[in-house]
Amino acid sequence: MGSYAVIGLGRFGASVATTLVSLGHEVLGVDKSQKKVQELADVLTHAAAADAKDEEVLKSFGVRNFDGVVVAIGQDIEANILTTVMLSDLGVKNIIAKAQTELHGQVLQRVGATRIVYPEKDMGVKVANNISSETILDYIELSSDHSIVEFIAPNKFIGKTLGKLNLRAKYGISILAIKKGNDIMVAPGAEGLIEQDDLLVVVGGNSAINKCTR
Ligand code: ATP
Repeated sequence: MGSYAVIGLGRFGASVATTLVSLGHEVLGVDKSQKKVQELADVLTHAAAADAKDEEVLKSFGVRNFDGVVVAIGQDIEANILTTVMLSDLGVKNIIAKAQTELHGQVLQRVGATRIVYPEKDMGVKVANNISSETILDYIELSSDHSIVEFIAPNKFIGKTLGKLNLRAKYGISILAIKKGNDIMVAPGAEGLIEQDDLLVVVGGNSAINKCTR
């Protein structure tokens, strides 16, 4: 079990914080709005109403002792950057900060954020992929031309084993998992059989994955 602090409990921060709790972690949620704090007080391990721009406030939470601190302040870019700077100055090793734009992300990296997330941009990519292909269920961008994709096994794969399909040689993609209802075969071997309604999780180049999903 880890311990995390989430600063800013808007839609993104609240979702991060409550998901961390459901994954079994201890979570401190901080927001300057008393209302936001009250809404989540029963769900989170600790919740506090405070302005994160105040360094003494951050110190008083013992931010250094958390496994990670998420800066989920959105519109107020000044508060978002200042909070990140102060967390870094206070010696927080793992700072995950939400950025609005690429430039904002670069600034956050310079001032000490260890990981930058772009929730709106990432969700846009996911939604576009889902819309463009009805069989693609989930999508993680690894680089501009490589991804991990979860998709419904196409008819051309049904009834065949991975050994027979030889996807690595034919398409240059690797199957990470086959999901069969509630069962999941992780790193399936050559004998792994693909059946109707299976979901495949694959890693590879985008154009190769596109060919596979069709
Ligand atoms: P989302 O899309 O996650 O709903 P957003 O990107 O629109 O959020 P905001 O609503 O501006 O972002 O900020 C998220 C939360 O951060 C808000 O609940 C806001 O009260 C809180 N917040 C903003 N500034 C501070 C601050 N200085 N200290 C603590 N919390 C703050």
